[in-house]
Amino acid sequence: MTSFEQYPLPAHLHDSARIYWMMSEWCNYSCEYCGVPVFFKKSAIRGRQRHAFDHYPVGQWLEAFKSFPQNDISLVITGGEPFLDRKNFPVLLAGLLADGRFRIRVYTNLSWNPADYDGIDKSQIHLNTTFHPSQTSFPEYHRRLKKIRDAGFSLSHVGVILAPENLDFAESVLTQLESEGFPISAGPMMPAGRYMNRQERTERERDLIRRFSYPLSAFFSLTRPVTKGLACYHPAFSYRLHLDGGVNIACIGARQNIFTDGLPELPRTAVGCPHEHCEGCPEMIRAIVNLPEYGKPLSIFHPQEATREIVEYRTSRRSGILPHDQELFRIIEEHLDSRPVPVPDSVFIPAADIEGVPQAPPFGFIDKLAGSDVIEAFSRDRIHLSGWAASSRIGEPVRSVKLFVNETQVASIESFYPRPEVVDAFHREDLLQSGWQALFYLPTLERGEYPITAMAITAGGNSGNLPSFRVRILD
Ligand code: SF4
Ligand code: SF4
Repeated sequence: MTSFEQYPLPAHLHDSARIYWMMSEWCNYSCEYCGVPVFFKKSAIRGRQRHAFDHYPVGQWLEAFKSFPQNDISLVITGGEPFLDRKNFPVLLAGLLADGRFRIRVYTNLSWNPADYDGIDKSQIHLNTTFHPSQTSFPEYHRRLKKIRDAGFSLSHVGVILAPENLDFAESVLTQLESEGFPISAGPMMPAGRYMNRQERTERERDLIRRFSYPLSAFFSLTRPVTKGLACYHPAFSYRLHLDGGVNIACIGARQNIFTDGLPELPRTAVGCPHEHCEGCPEMIRAIVNLPEYGKPLSIFHPQEATREIVEYRTSRRSGILPHDQELFRIIEEHLDSRPVPVPDSVFIPAADIEGVPQAPPFGFIDKLAGSDVIEAFSRDRIHLSGWAASSRIGEPVRSVKLFVNETQVASIESFYPRPEVVDAFHREDLLQSGWQALFYLPTLERGEYPITAMAITAGGNSGNLPSFRVRILD
């Protein structure tokens, strides 16, 4: 870790800490653009759930939170859906508020009942919520939003993700919510879930980004500036806490267990960013030492500050967008126009096994990332599958790959990533963009083995199945 001794943590933050806690992978929704492997089924043979309270009881977690020595703590709780645990979550929030040092921001879809939190000082619980049109109607979401606000919770941010299926709703929803006083913004969709390879941004999407996204966040998520080696204060006063009790200095350092090993020692100076790109959470990017695009002094970035920034920005837009925000959108536009070729996350090379170009118009493979053509999973799990699909006909490329599990369609992929080994195997440059991948939800299935089929469809409407795969449902 490179330390930047010339940038000691400012004195006003010596008694402050940020904690980011991914407490659960449970969720009652199944958004296609979700990057979290939500929906792990409870099963006696699975062992512990991917939930903090399955690893340690809530009382022990509250003891662990007492061990943070700082007196001013900004705690982000995210998932999955943290409010799903109606028994333990109210106890956790009540305990943290009684401690008096925590200001809490929870990421939530609002599908819960505020009556479960009667008796808690909800004004100290700030909700960062997103409307997911594929999972609930706007009238229902709106009803919950108002009910939860009326119950006393603070709504620090209300958003819509600009995924293809949300574009028709985004403008009207955001406009209405803003007119009702909610701090709103639109989040550009990140490559995740079903859209792992999607790079394109349609004109409609770009228009919505310009009008509804917060410029600094959009700049980081869309242009992904290189942060490696930059001096950054975030690790000097931040921890990352994991659902199994793991804890590390935020974004750097080895993980240890908070229950058995205690807390890691924070560096207390800015350090060199070890990552090519910052993950881009609002508080993280605002800790980069020299970030002229932000230009404000370092702060803990409590939820109220985040809300204030959004509200000020939205107000300033009404009198004309400010020059530095305009400049950020110009850089974003320039970046989107250049459309860089995405780099694949993983490459498995079965193409070399094929001699010559197969006669069927579409051909390809499902990757055997675990070395076997059977994968094990639980009913309704979310699994990742990748492969490549090509067309034997030059000028008739593959346009989509549809995935079926036991004849139920589970994904349709229209965006592809480069697979140079396919080019090498068939000596055809036009096959570079043949990789596909998706994180998708399995249907409800009984124990047993089921076929996974990938069907490739060419621009000319010809289709063919890739060599099949199987999933073994354990429970
Ligand atoms: S995006 Fe949020 S609400 Fe949707 S499935 Fe993921 S965690 Fe749940
Ligand atoms: S730039 Fe982002 S990833 Fe890098 S050290 Fe700072 S907060 Fe961490």
